[in-house]
Amino acid sequence: MKYIDEFRDGELARGLVRAIAAEANPARTYRFMEFCGGHTHALSRYGVTDLLPAPVRMIHGPGCPVCVLPIGRIDMAIALTLERGVILCSYGDTLRVPASAGLSLMKARARGGDIRMVYSTTDALALARQHPDREVVFLAIGFETTTPPTALALVQARTEGLKNFSVLCNHVLTPSAITHILQSPEVRRHGSVPLDGFIGPAHVSLVIGSRPYEHFAEEYRKPVVIAGFEPLDVMQAILMLLRQVNQGRAEVENEFSRAVSREGNKKAQALVSEVFELRRSFDWRGLGEVPYSALKLRPAYAGFDAEQRFDLTYRPVADHKACECGAILRGVKTPRDCKLFGTVCTPENPVGSCMVSSEGACAAHYSYGRFR
Ligand code: SF4
Repeated sequence: MKYIDEFRDGELARGLVRAIAAEANPARTYRFMEFCGGHTHALSRYGVTDLLPAPVRMIHGPGCPVCVLPIGRIDMAIALTLERGVILCSYGDTLRVPASAGLSLMKARARGGDIRMVYSTTDALALARQHPDREVVFLAIGFETTTPPTALALVQARTEGLKNFSVLCNHVLTPSAITHILQSPEVRRHGSVPLDGFIGPAHVSLVIGSRPYEHFAEEYRKPVVIAGFEPLDVMQAILMLLRQVNQGRAEVENEFSRAVSREGNKKAQALVSEVFELRRSFDWRGLGEVPYSALKLRPAYAGFDAEQRFDLTYRPVADHKACECGAILRGVKTPRDCKLFGTVCTPENPVGSCMVSSEGACAAHYSYGRFR
């Protein structure tokens, strides 16, 4: 298949539904986690969840970049712009994530913060060039997909000798989060959240390749199928996972072979490792402190590290008491388990981070009316 609409073909989808139904054993339950928010969105948007037979359950994972950004890190960015007068720039969804004291970056802008939405790190660099008399800080978020562009911007800034550009780095790592989930008490005791396999991320895997997931198949006996973001991709991946489980296999399979290789994008990997190194620990929204699960700038780039440049300190802040984002990100609850879902908390007025981005589980359920 070559064109995007071929991956949304109704006839092929019906065939896959029949194949999935034939493969699913009605005497048992299969619980597959789609790690990535892009897959959560695709499952909801195309109604894939409603096409699955009763034994097949999809569990949302923590792979939505804005959902896992902890409140305390957004507070750092807000303080930078309101108290230190910097131009703070970031991607669109980040600006809407609820922070402390009823604020978000968007609301901080209404209070006078100079906060700009950018579409790329190139835009952030352009801002720094346009305002040589102002400090420009890029609030960098996301998994391995958005890390290479941040690295590229930092290399460019150093090459140009830009003195007024820095990065508040929140880049996080997919394999560490999967390990954390697999080691969580809920999964290990095979109690409330037994997991039978993972749909592996599409864009992240394009960068890191399929090799890092082999550990999960070998060590934890969990099948992983890397899938694209189109509905037929996801359905095919579910069928492949079912077959692995039924045949007692735990392997890494690549449904998204049109883009993902075993080794990934080595150029991007080299760039990232030139600029970044592992953080000892990072506080994920929902998962809590996860060791070696995020990146920080290497000493050679210390001058571009906003945390060092502005002597910032991270202070953890608890989510809204009634918000179930943490449990949803761990796969323990669903959006409909939250009392605020669709009433107090809506995409227009998000209380928690899962309602902000279209990749967030709550926003996907709200927008597309999913009931499972
Ligand atoms: Fe949090 Fe809103 Fe989702 Fe409830 S509905 S878990 S408050 S984001």
